[in-house]
Amino acid sequence: PACRLLLAAALGPAGRRRLPCHHAVAAARSSSGTGGEPEAEGPNRATAMLRHLLLKLRATGPVTVAEYMREALTNPGQGYYTRRGSIGETGDFVTSPEISQVFGELIGIWYVSEWIAAGKPKAFQLVELGPGRGTLTDDILRVFNQLASLISKCDISIHLVEVSPKLSETQAQMLTGGKGQANPKDTSAYMKGISKTGIPIFWYRDIQDVPLGYSFYLAHEFFDALPIHKFQRTEKGWREVLVDIDPEVPDQLRFVLSPSSTPATEYFIQPEERRDHVEVCPEAGVVIQRLACRIEKDGGAALVADYGHDGTKTDTFRGFRNHKLHDVLTAPGTADLTADVDFSYLRKMTEGRTATLGPIKQREFLKNMGIDLRLQVLLQNSRDTATQEQLHHSYDMLMNPKKMGDCFNFFALLPHHRLAHPDKKPEPKSPLPPVAGFSELLMK
Ligand code: SAH
Repeated sequence: PACRLLLAAALGPAGRRRLPCHHAVAAARSSSGTGGEPEAEGPNRATAMLRHLLLKLRATGPVTVAEYMREALTNPGQGYYTRRGSIGETGDFVTSPEISQVFGELIGIWYVSEWIAAGKPKAFQLVELGPGRGTLTDDILRVFNQLASLISKCDISIHLVEVSPKLSETQAQMLTGGKGQANPKDTSAYMKGISKTGIPIFWYRDIQDVPLGYSFYLAHEFFDALPIHKFQRTEKGWREVLVDIDPEVPDQLRFVLSPSSTPATEYFIQPEERRDHVEVCPEAGVVIQRLACRIEKDGGAALVADYGHDGTKTDTFRGFRNHKLHDVLTAPGTADLTADVDFSYLRKMTEGRTATLGPIKQREFLKNMGIDLRLQVLLQNSRDTATQEQLHHSYDMLMNPKKMGDCFNFFALLPHHRLAHPDKKPEPKSPLPPVAGFSELLMK
């Protein structure tokens, strides 16, 4: 019920941001995209990144898939996110916040509802990892603004963790309406600004630079962009998959297997592993560990939304360019590379420092958060049939099990005391409020 009241108060009768756009061609990266076949691309097309990698491979020999992915995505000169990072209908892939403003609005309500459940602390930081175009935070800030009567006394600040200078500029434009101030002296941030609604915003390259304190963390399609190691079971045991130069075709890369087991195979593969092919993302483990430590110490919560599995899938490494599947080893730096998030690994890496909820399917989370009610209000208030069609279309993209509804998951980290009263006697009088989105009862 608290969530329903928040929904009514936060969301006015109509969309405030923009009309949802029509994604006739746009593809989410969650599965195979719309294109079917990988985009045709001449094998000899040597991008600057490919030339850099060829030099490196000639000098050092094969590299791990993680090293290859890190270079292709975030190399400071030629990485995909550094130079291109093209998100949205006209870009390489589309994400839920870009499809509908309702997505970010419901996530904004989630944070307000957790803030209330925590006893309305006097201040909180909203920390977003990998904010893309800044759309999600913009939609959340609009909700905070709508709920000003409730939270205006709370000291809120926004902290964005972004490696791409290009995307951080786009975010500054979206959130502040102009350029951010570069290299401010008074903070560990590389850029700062003020939101259109007067909330301070800071940019960092690493979560470690973000100040400590009561924080709500958000990672939407962030973990899937972090570098993975790949392992293959062979008759001789586990071998790591590496990237090497193809000796048969000039300027072309290929996958090879490490000739013997490596420390990584020993360290990352569990003895009880049943799969034949395994992907591990140690960087995701490190980030989730940091979030868990921070939440354990200072309080708050983390919401992670991404496509992924619970330790069951095998080969999910893929590339996207212009909404089409793109061969991961072709023209590196010009396409987004991604792999499914292993939520069982994230849960394991919290090491019990926080409680975890989920992963639950996106369509269940959004339904629990009241997306149907929101759709009804927007439909009732839209004047033309074209807008109504777009509303239905974007709802379908987010919720349809065959589109983004089933393969995207929500996963949360919460302090243990949020889910269970500490062992105190006498018994506390009031039960703990359920966590919005993860509980079906809330909207009934
Ligand atoms: N959350 C956004 C964008 C997802 S794309 C959305 O849903 O629309 C991935 C984002 O993570 C981009 O902003 C990219 O630049 C950023 N990113 C990728 N690797 C990163 C890293 N190692 N550290 C910080 N940001 C990273």
